[in-house]
Order: sequence, then structure tokens, then C-alpha cells
Amino acid sequence: MAGAVPPDKSASPIERLIALFGRFPGVGGKSARRMVFHLLRQDEDFLRSLGGAIAGLKDGLFTCGTCGNVSESDPCPICRDALRDRTTLCVVENIDDLVSFEQAGVYNGLYHVLGGRVSPLDGQELSAENVDFFLRHLESSGASEVIVATNPRMEGDLTYFTLLEILGGRSDIKVSRLAFGLPVGGSIEFADRMTLHTALESRISARRE
Ligand SMILES: [Zn+2]
Repeated sequence: MAGAVPPDKSASPIERLIALFGRFPGVGGKSARRMVFHLLRQDEDFLRSLGGAIAGLKDGLFTCGTCGNVSESDPCPICRDALRDRTTLCVVENIDDLVSFEQAGVYNGLYHVLGGRVSPLDGQELSAENVDFFLRHLESSGASEVIVATNPRMEGDLTYFTLLEILGGRSDIKVSRLAFGLPVGGSIEFADRMTLHTALESRISARRE
């Protein structure tokens, strides 16, 4: 894991920060360098408040023990909301995707954040804990439908098939997957409201009815 690598103490503060920024998704060495030189031009107050905001980012945040969402309470507001449709469980790979659905306002059921995916190229698979957590939530929610909202790319496909296998014996649970509208190779995080709405509405059942 990149996060486990200790910063190189022998490097200068500038080089250390460039290396840290370089760990952000989609940020290469050149962008990381530009960010650091931008910071060097800011005043001390800004730098201290940025540092403080980063250091305190996880203060007062909890991972929901029911669905895996991150919020200021456990259970999270979505799990606690009595007005949400408890018959449907939308399975997403990570919290970014949950936030995209919520911001689009196109779904009123429950979520389950898998917190992992199946990706043989990165040596990733769903851990026994991930699977247990999901099955416990499915049981406690009493949901009768699982919508698999994994991303339309190879890892998303493999994750979907793994979930299908896990749910193989549960003929009482309707399983579907987001359908067209999402570009192949794209990502839920960057999809607009209309696209997410279409993908949800036209979800494909995993089993012959
Ligand atoms: Zn929750």
C-alpha cells in the first residue's frame, strides 16, 4: 500500500511534500511539484489552516457499522432515515460512488459500501470480512433486491460476478446491475445525474425471471 511507505527523511521538505502530493489519484510528479510551489507562494496563515484541516479531517468521523458509509454518526444518517426504501440495497465499491448517487438524488433505498473489489491485476479480491459485512447487512436490512452498482469496467464486472456467486443460493433476493447510460470504462464518480438515473432505471436483472 502506498500509504504505508514512510516519507524519506533525508529528502528536503519540498521534495517530501512533492512525494506526498504525488500519491493523490491522477496527480503525477509535475502536478505535485506545481502544487508545492503554489503553496510556497502562500502566507503562513493559509499553510497552517490547510495543515490543520488535513490533520483533523478524520476527527469526529465514523465508519457506519451497518453499511460502511463514513459520516459523523454510526449508524449513518442514511441507515437511520426511516423514510428510505428498505427493500433495496445498492452495492457500491466505495464512498465516492455513494456520494455521487446521493448528490444526483436519483435513489432512495439503502446502500452498502463494499470497501473492496475484485481486481486480479492489483491482486485484490473481496476479503472474507467484506463478504461477511455485506451478508450481515443484507440480512439485517431485510432487503429483497440487491442493485450492484460497480463500475462498468473489468474490475466492476468481476466484482459483480463474485457477488452473484455469493448470492447464488438466495433465490428470494432479486439481483440486478446498472445498465446502459454509463460509458464502458467510465466511472460512477464522474457520471452526471441523467446518466445515473438512466443506468438505475434500466438495470439488468441477473437472473431469468
Ligand atoms: Zn450506514
